[in-house]
Amino acid sequence: HQGIAVDYQAVLEQIAADVAPLIGSGTPAEYIPALASVDPHRFGMAVTDVSGKVYGVGDWQRPFSVQSITKVFTLALALAADDESLWERVGREPSGNPFNSLVQLEYENGIPRNPFINAGALVVTDRLQTLTGDASSELLEFLRQESGNPDLAFDPEVAESESAHGDRNAALAHFMASYGNIVNPVPTLLDHYFWQCSIEMSCADLTLAARFLARHGLRADGSRLLTRSEAKQINAVMLTCGTYDAAGDFAYRVGLPGKSGVGGGIVAVVPGRCTLCVWSPGLDARGNSVAGVAALDRFTTLTGLSVF
Ligand code: GLU
Repeated sequence: HQGIAVDYQAVLEQIAADVAPLIGSGTPAEYIPALASVDPHRFGMAVTDVSGKVYGVGDWQRPFSVQSITKVFTLALALAADDESLWERVGREPSGNPFNSLVQLEYENGIPRNPFINAGALVVTDRLQTLTGDASSELLEFLRQESGNPDLAFDPEVAESESAHGDRNAALAHFMASYGNIVNPVPTLLDHYFWQCSIEMSCADLTLAARFLARHGLRADGSRLLTRSEAKQINAVMLTCGTYDAAGDFAYRVGLPGKSGVGGGIVAVVPGRCTLCVWSPGLDARGNSVAGVAALDRFTTLTGLSVF
């Protein structure tokens, strides 16, 4: 990678022009009413290189609901505070099932397939809650520090909306608790989980916050969050499990570790080089941003930067 010189700003502008016909296609997430009202014609994309220089196009500075993208950061914090024992409670295989699926849990004794489906993220949040006593505040503080944006906050309207429509997540948590794989009170755990999902960040904020994944575990201030090996592990799980039950197609088209959320954002990583974030609210049938996946696909095609 080091050998390839890239004019990120020119690439972003080219991508924005190329994907323009796709912006507005797909459907914003409807099962969380507060998300359904977002303008589907928004599109933004940012790149931050490992030195911290940020490039952007379109709505790259406009905050949106990060939703499942937080699952990456929660996992990083839990791994940083913990040891390998987290992997006794959550697997690292793609699920091939929708993000909120219950069925595999019964066959696999309450151990979720991976940390990026909802069941797995609930286990990781449960662990972080045990380790820190306040999982969502811990996460928010980390995101503020890494992005350098002290104004990052939970969106109470989105969190309440998710809670009011949260029967599926409550079912997942109670079901895993019945196997002993959730140890905190389920209502407390769900509150932290919904707060996490409700955080609002821009593409620029997210590329800065995810920079430790491109920097082999080093935080913005140069201190070490994760070992090089742990950073590799998270990138690997993002590649295989980060885009719902479309992770195979995403790897084929984009060829980068990525994590999407139903708010329409996707974060991707070129290890050793840069982080990317794209946002456009229209989702495909599997819950990934239509213009977002196309934009990342164009990025790797135009620049030749991928992990392959
Ligand atoms: N808060 C959402 C949920 O748990 C996150 C879903 C997502 O972004 O995949 O249903």
